[in-house]
Amino acid sequence: PVDRSEEIQNARMGLPVVGEEQKIMEAIYNNPTIVIWGATGSGKTTQLPQFLFESGFGTPDSPNPGLIGVTQPRRVAAVSMANRVAQELGQHSDKVSYQIRFESTTSKNTAIKFMTDGILIREIADDFALRKYSVIIIDEAHERSVNTDILIGMVSRIVDLRKSMSQEDPSVKPLKVIIMSATLRISDFTENRSLFRHGAPPLVQAEGRQYPVSVHFARRTHRDYVEEAFRKVSRGHRKLPPGGMLVFLTGQNEIRQLSKRLKQAFKPTQRVDTTQARVEFSANDAPLEAEDLELGGAEMDNAGFDDDSDFEITGLDEPEDDEGFDLGEEAMDSSTKVHVLPLYSQLPTKEQMKVFEPPPEGSRLIILATNVAETSLTIPGIKYVFDCGRAKEKQYDLLTGVQSFQVGWISKASANQRAGRAGRTGPGHCYRLYSSAVYEADFEEYTDPEILRTPIEGVVLQMKSMGLHNVINFPFPTPPSRQGLAKAEKLLKNLGALTADGQVTHIGRRLSTYPLSPRFGKMIYIGHQHGCMPYVIALVSALAVGDLFVAQNEVDPPKRAVKSKGPKDSEDDSDSSEDEKVYTNADRLEDTEREQRSKDYARVHRLLSKHDDTSDALKFLSAICAYAYASDGDAFCEQMFLRGKAFKEATQLRRQLTDIVRSNNPGLLGTYEARLPEPSAKQIKALKQIVTAGFIDHIAIRADLAPVPPDIPRAPRRAIDVPYLTLFRSRDRHSDDIAERAVFVHPSSILAKLSPKEMPQYIVYSHLQQSAASVVADQTPKIRM
Ligand code: ADP
Ligand code: MG
Repeated sequence: PVDRSEEIQNARMGLPVVGEEQKIMEAIYNNPTIVIWGATGSGKTTQLPQFLFESGFGTPDSPNPGLIGVTQPRRVAAVSMANRVAQELGQHSDKVSYQIRFESTTSKNTAIKFMTDGILIREIADDFALRKYSVIIIDEAHERSVNTDILIGMVSRIVDLRKSMSQEDPSVKPLKVIIMSATLRISDFTENRSLFRHGAPPLVQAEGRQYPVSVHFARRTHRDYVEEAFRKVSRGHRKLPPGGMLVFLTGQNEIRQLSKRLKQAFKPTQRVDTTQARVEFSANDAPLEAEDLELGGAEMDNAGFDDDSDFEITGLDEPEDDEGFDLGEEAMDSSTKVHVLPLYSQLPTKEQMKVFEPPPEGSRLIILATNVAETSLTIPGIKYVFDCGRAKEKQYDLLTGVQSFQVGWISKASANQRAGRAGRTGPGHCYRLYSSAVYEADFEEYTDPEILRTPIEGVVLQMKSMGLHNVINFPFPTPPSRQGLAKAEKLLKNLGALTADGQVTHIGRRLSTYPLSPRFGKMIYIGHQHGCMPYVIALVSALAVGDLFVAQNEVDPPKRAVKSKGPKDSEDDSDSSEDEKVYTNADRLEDTEREQRSKDYARVHRLLSKHDDTSDALKFLSAICAYAYASDGDAFCEQMFLRGKAFKEATQLRRQLTDIVRSNNPGLLGTYEARLPEPSAKQIKALKQIVTAGFIDHIAIRADLAPVPPDIPRAPRRAIDVPYLTLFRSRDRHSDDIAERAVFVHPSSILAKLSPKEMPQYIVYSHLQQSAASVVADQTPKIRM
């Protein structure tokens, strides 16, 4: 028995999943695999593991002594859910642990183990029968991450395997599998004959006791949704009755901007005009994109958007002059403070956990979140959702290999999930910052599964080295395209990981032991020459984690167009916009600071480029090596415009890779040494060759040096305009237009600082990327290396 505190007991009683405990457990006993559907917040993730634990799963000497394994697509969720379940399990809290890429809390007491889906795939590579486990829960299956899809395919076979093993040896128990989903988009699993050969698994539904959520569409869809979010949230805070707010944005940059402005606008003693000061448009705070630079502050494309700033919003059933804020209830006290918290995956875990704590007395909780809050985390007390309707997604063109991080419309399914976040604790409201016309016309029903949108060489190698040679026959919930598979196999052959007829080589088997893409694995595999191994490991760790540097436009955000005056009488109607626009001493000070920051930024990047002024890879190496010498890593990152969380991760990866290389190859490498001496000139040369070996198919030649040089209409004036041609197909190579065929360096690259004449003959690139087409009028954005 579990002694739960009264508070927890009460909270559990209200969960739909708890009401269905008996039905769920019966289905589990009677079937090897079941699918559970229940709306987000109904208690699937926190309760299912406890039901199983209380009925003896995971307990030594019980009929099902094996562990209860729970997989999550996101690390944040694995950690926070493990903590929550531990808390709910009272005196058994030590039986819950988690394992994510670099951290594990498992012990001999562990009965319930939360982990990312990638971790479980690695465990399957070690023991295909997963004998350690008596039950596997695959959570958030509707998200359709590649790893989740692969896991579902694998466990469907492991269930059969364990059944036949248990018939031969009664000490081996059959495996139970529970697939959990927050949406009903599960026919890819349930109706997939190759996946479940013995018939579809039963679907158990946990009746969502979801309160009604009124959805208010905007009458107009504004291009600048961050600005729009600021306006709506500010007004909402003033007009709406108590209740937490959850605002969906697309990335951390936007979140930081909005957070700053809300805090400023609702400072207790000072009122700043909230209708005038603008947040600059930030469609993309992923890697700095060329077009943002090239356009500067120029007007962007308005296609499809009404940029008229009139504030006219209406819900479906609302009169046109109402924004849906008049709920006929009393607004919060006008002096109510706001408690603004960010939530995104790069945020340190400790900060992320703050969203679960109640806000300070007498303040309104406002959470600014990315997709993380869509289904995997349920935040208590949310009554109002503000949905920008967009998400930043990595797109990948399987044919050309071009990646783009673009902000695009979410699917209808996602929009409904987001709205649903408002109805957990009582009736709620969702304010959509887009019109119902846009929703109907431009939103897909569902997002494509990730396997159709990402390179899969890692997956293919992993499967083949597990003995699943015929990848095409694997029971994928949604099979990858033939093109994608062919591309992956070609790369693996180029890397020497597969033979010409597709068998895994010795190299391939080695590469599959690294928790890395095969490209990076290859670099480590050949990394021992000239004593380079410690450098290669550091370099690969930095490259694999990626996104190490704070982008220039984040350090130096575009200037705000309008400033408002200082303190105002708080009785004043803050909707009036009579503030004078004044240029104060504070502004001047800010300008000086801005200039200084910009100089510091340039200096830091020069410093990190000192080993080589043409290699971004070596700049990554310098950065991670310099970080290791810092006595206070966080302060160092702050000072050097580096992302602290990325450096922590890269450092953990360095340690882990060092261990793996040492155990693969005892004697080749000494113990882990964070602080490395400067590499020699010879080593630097070798390092560049090693990088090239990993990206052997990612080479471009300067267009004027090509065997058949294309017409180049005019001499480029900037490095980022110098055309290159990829040696392997990347775009339409038959096009006559050089702009259509060529690729160009990205402005964040070290090469962008060269003069056009200094540009190298060949460039090895990590990936090609293109920014969203819709941002720039009448011009296809360039493809950037
Ligand atoms: P589901 O997996 O079905 O989406 P969960 O099991 O995650 O649902 O959540 C069930 C309930 O537990 C929710 O009401 C949520 O608010 C609450 N909950 C989850 N994690 C925490 C936490 N760390 N602190 C407080 N409440 C939590
Ligand atoms: Mg859940």
